[in-house]
Amino acid sequence: MNPLAKLDQKFVWHPFTQMRDWLKREPIVITEGQGAILRDVKGKEYLDANSSIWTNLHGHQHPKINAAITRQLKKISHSSALGFANEPASLLAEKLVSVANSKLVGRASSRAGLGEEKGNRSSVASPQLDKVFYSDDGSTALEVALKLAYQFTLRTRGKKVKPRFLSLDGAYHGDTIGAVSLGHIDLFHKAYGGMLFATDKVMSPYCYRCPFNRAKPERTDARKSRKCHWECVGKVEQKFSAQKKKGNPYAAFIFEPLMQGAAGMIPQPSGWLGQVTDIARAHGALLIADEVMTGFGRTGVTCHVDDKIITDIAKRPASAKLFATGRVGITPDFLCVAKGLTGGYLPMAATLTTQRVFDAFLGEYEEFKTFFHGHSFTGNQLGAAAALASLEILQTKQSVLQRAHLQKWLHDELQTLWSLPNVGDIRQVGLVAGIELVKDWRTREPFALRERAGIRVCEAMTQRGVLTRPVGNVIVLMPPYCTTKTQMQSIASALREAMEESF
Ligand code: PMP
Repeated sequence: MNPLAKLDQKFVWHPFTQMRDWLKREPIVITEGQGAILRDVKGKEYLDANSSIWTNLHGHQHPKINAAITRQLKKISHSSALGFANEPASLLAEKLVSVANSKLVGRASSRAGLGEEKGNRSSVASPQLDKVFYSDDGSTALEVALKLAYQFTLRTRGKKVKPRFLSLDGAYHGDTIGAVSLGHIDLFHKAYGGMLFATDKVMSPYCYRCPFNRAKPERTDARKSRKCHWECVGKVEQKFSAQKKKGNPYAAFIFEPLMQGAAGMIPQPSGWLGQVTDIARAHGALLIADEVMTGFGRTGVTCHVDDKIITDIAKRPASAKLFATGRVGITPDFLCVAKGLTGGYLPMAATLTTQRVFDAFLGEYEEFKTFFHGHSFTGNQLGAAAALASLEILQTKQSVLQRAHLQKWLHDELQTLWSLPNVGDIRQVGLVAGIELVKDWRTREPFALRERAGIRVCEAMTQRGVLTRPVGNVIVLMPPYCTTKTQMQSIASALREAMEESF
């Protein structure tokens, strides 16, 4: 066994990993990355088909991000945000605020233009994101939003109120206790039941397994063939109304926009997000958008590979190209970003919020209205420098074009998988896709988790030089934006062969 693999097995405890299984075989030790390729200590190459757990945007060793980090390293790598400002964190905050707001176009027109959200109710005025609170990862970005929303609610509705939160069935928002409390994946979250505070859940629009969807299984994305009356939206309305009747309307509604990741890559049918956020707003709830996975272009550029449409896209506000909420013209009260913020290079997160929330924390020192929260590496310079470079790359026409191409290649490759009997649903949102494995597509019968269907397929993909990690029975494809057409084809071939071998 390679000496580094030996050290790993002797000392390292891996996240979300049954270590008894881990210790049974030699782990892959990654030593290098270039573009969409990862190389292990033995020189074997792999395609990074889930962008190193959904973090990497432009590929590994991007010269511009490398240069930005190196430049910053020559000045200083870290100083504290407790007491001091710093150059890249200030510049990044300005940049994030400028790209996060979808104010340039009205919500209704932006929706119509992007063809995303048809048939919505009248829009409710969106706030403006003005302030950036830095932290370290996705969980802390959510933890910050949660604590701010909690305090804000107490300060605006009175101290006797017990702020209550609503999130989606199957939600995953991170592993810190607040974020876990917002989560509803029993497998992960039940174990900590005694440590958590109560939150409510409402059904998510999981068309493929929706009890209200009367459509028979078809060889197409279940969203397209769904037959329903938006009962899922009705459930949201009911939940908000019931809570209002209790005299304590929800303080906040927390959601991943357009696609829920760890819940099983569950995409939202067109129109759902606008409707439910309108309901939440009408009930006075704050909107907390978790764009930890969906942020920074992951949900696509909404255009065909056609220069005319791309030119059109160039006229959209940056938020429409970078954030799922922006694509549907929604500005939340809290926008949580992490993973891709630094292009996937360094652990850094940000929670953007409004002037209104910020103002609720202003006061005389002795009023102790301060937001008592912070981390040692808050506003880290290296992370901020990487994030600035990444945002610059994202806003180039070349990057937009590249993403549009990749979106189409991913789509084309996914279509070739429908012929496999164990493919139940294929759901793509921009540059992320989930392929749900089933025993038989005609019945939608799921594999029991203990059958490890997703794990087996991913292991067979690894043998073929493609790395990804399943969420339950759902295979995730989320390639870095620099992935070439040939690489995309190799990823799909590996998946196809892996499925043929596994079942
Ligand atoms: N929110 C979402 C939507 C996520 O996908 C994740 C991580 N997969 C998190 C929050 C937590 O992020 P982190 O692992 O960086 O703490």
